[in-house]
Amino acid sequence: VTTDVVPLGTAASIPAHGRHLSALALQRKGRVLLFDCGEGTQYQLLDAGVPRARIDAVFVTHLHGDHFFGLPGLISTLANLQRTAPVTLVGPEGLGAFLRAAGVNPDRQPFAVTVTEWDETLTEATVYRTDEFAVTARPLEHRTPTAGYRFQEHARPGHLDAAKARALGVTHPPDLGRLKAGETVTTDDGRTVTPGEVVGPERPGIGVAYVTDTRPCAGGQVLADGADLLYHDATFADALHARAVETGHATAREAAEVARTAGARRLLLGHISARYSDPQPLVDEARAVFAQTEVAEEGRRYTLDPRKKEPERGGEEP
Ligand SMILES: [Zn+2]
Ligand SMILES: [Zn+2]
Repeated sequence: VTTDVVPLGTAASIPAHGRHLSALALQRKGRVLLFDCGEGTQYQLLDAGVPRARIDAVFVTHLHGDHFFGLPGLISTLANLQRTAPVTLVGPEGLGAFLRAAGVNPDRQPFAVTVTEWDETLTEATVYRTDEFAVTARPLEHRTPTAGYRFQEHARPGHLDAAKARALGVTHPPDLGRLKAGETVTTDDGRTVTPGEVVGPERPGIGVAYVTDTRPCAGGQVLADGADLLYHDATFADALHARAVETGHATAREAAEVARTAGARRLLLGHISARYSDPQPLVDEARAVFAQTEVAEEGRRYTLDPRKKEPERGGEEP
């Protein structure tokens, strides 16, 4: 199973230079998670071919307008499309009140809307969970209560060496399943076979971190740890470091330092200030620290494949 990350809005504060307000879609098995929903996100979803009807949850980082003013419009559209599937909205305390004030009462939609709010006491919380992945929130350092998010697939069992199991006398197919599930089995001739003898190491899933708006901070660093893809605030070039400190943002070099320390595989710079009509200087300064850096490209699909994380074998199971 692959996971697609599609940046939809990479501008800071105001739309400029073809860049839209903050939003990023994550698509897996046809279902969609949305991180932030700046004004205009509906149109960006259409342009990028991300099916809005398949959005299961929206995770809002903070209540600055450029990150959530698109939400009332999106919810209204889903209602007009006769949606029946439930939607989960996660964000800071006040998100539900904002939607009611905007005339989009979460309790009066043709589909169930669950609003999960965290407050400034947030340290770490699992805010969304399925059988196959979870999304956790941790606090960031900005001018208002802000959280970053980590999407993480659950690890999958290791590969079973069926030939070796047979050679050890495991002949009943259900026993192969038990070994793979971590159970010890006994063969017909009384021999004990443990998973460690025939099953390879657990296979890690894909991890994606969405870390904006923020100074480099402990919460963002933990969210980024070992991520296959890190989307990080890079509002300014390092020449404007003082401005980044003052406004609660990060520079491109700082984003790269977070990625390097985290051992991330890939860094996408986002939340780019309108002053950079050409973001190349941001890329250059970040790459000096962390080579696998790009400016997040709106509408592009960044496809992440967990099988590519298995150097020794892999590629034979779906
Ligand atoms: Zn912002
Ligand atoms: Zn902000």
